[in-house]
Amino acid sequence: RFEGVSMAPADPILGVSEAFKRDNSDMKLNLGVGAYRTEELQPYVLEVVKKAEKKMLEAGENKEYLPIEGLAAFNKATAELLLGADNPVIKQQRVATVQGLSGTGSLRLGAAFIQRYFPGVKVLISSPTWGNHKNILNDAGVPWSEYRYFDPKTVGLDFEGMIADIKDAPNGSIILLHGCAHNPTGIDPTPEQWEKIADVCQEKDHMPFFDVAYQGFASGSLDDDASSVRRFVARGIELFVAQSYSKNLGLYAERIGAINVVVSSPEVATKVKSQLKRLARPMYSNPPVHGARIVANVVGDPTMFDEWRAEMQAMAGRIKTVRQRLYDELSTKDKSSKDWSFVLKQIGMFSFTGLNKAQSDNMTDKWHVYMTKDGRISLAGLNLAKCAFLADAIIDSFYN
Ligand code: PMP
Repeated sequence: RFEGVSMAPADPILGVSEAFKRDNSDMKLNLGVGAYRTEELQPYVLEVVKKAEKKMLEAGENKEYLPIEGLAAFNKATAELLLGADNPVIKQQRVATVQGLSGTGSLRLGAAFIQRYFPGVKVLISSPTWGNHKNILNDAGVPWSEYRYFDPKTVGLDFEGMIADIKDAPNGSIILLHGCAHNPTGIDPTPEQWEKIADVCQEKDHMPFFDVAYQGFASGSLDDDASSVRRFVARGIELFVAQSYSKNLGLYAERIGAINVVVSSPEVATKVKSQLKRLARPMYSNPPVHGARIVANVVGDPTMFDEWRAEMQAMAGRIKTVRQRLYDELSTKDKSSKDWSFVLKQIGMFSFTGLNKAQSDNMTDKWHVYMTKDGRISLAGLNLAKCAFLADAIIDSFYN
């Protein structure tokens, strides 16, 4: 009966970690998955998370089911973190927030909503984008196409191309946008460019779908990293936002995030929320409680909240330090006139090196540096001690 099942290909991102585990070399370095490591290249559990867990244990919380929409205190906290507690849309109760299974599950729930209520409406995604976006939309049965985003010539944003493609899309399309720290390129629009994107969305009656997986992790400031979303909300645009606490609270395995839908009235918000719950019930019934309690505790306690911000800034700062060191090593070691400054301009966890598939293969086969085949490296998995080695590997792969 199962003989006809063929072998699925390895996941382009998580498959890298599997290959890394199989490699016995001392040189090996895993820059594939975007997970924060310490300077000793060890996984990191935030001190504030341990503190919240201790408090939770002492409170003796039970393990009863959560409601379908998740933990109320979490949903309130997450919408306020995203939009700002005093945002009029929160006061006017125009936001439908449902706890999701981290960023992926929240995107998936949003996609299921689109499939059901906007059948046939196309979602435009950036070229390139986080690989799972395509899987999520495909599995939800939502049609998509790409808009230009990355310009290989400048290793920067192809803003003209992006705007032209968004303008060209049929009116009322859905535009998937990375709220901050675009994955995989690390290149974000400037505030002026965001305004122009919002202009086109309004002209064309497009609806943005923001993916916010790095709030606070890009700049170190939760408010600055949410400014793209808040700009659109302030214009009265209806939109979706998927959130994730994998990176900024280091809660990767807890699967905690949310889907928020900002709509025109409290009545509409209530109805949209009821339909999100209806979609969630047969998929997974209700979400896990542990991560939701951690977030609610951290955000709800001013001291812990400040501690979180300090730890987040330290993580973002460590990544900026290795970014600078990698750039220094690349520009000293490379004797050609190649300009490596794009490494410094990119933000967030990643650097998009411009290495093609063959060059990325060389990085892994010869240098034991594990990375995705699109040339993306996770700087969160790099330390200062390995920057010189990595620069050698990149230069060798680039010119050979
Ligand atoms: N969106 C983007 C752009 C991401 O980079 C990630 C994490 N790699 C996610 C969403 C979601 O991750 P998770 O499901 O772990 O929250």
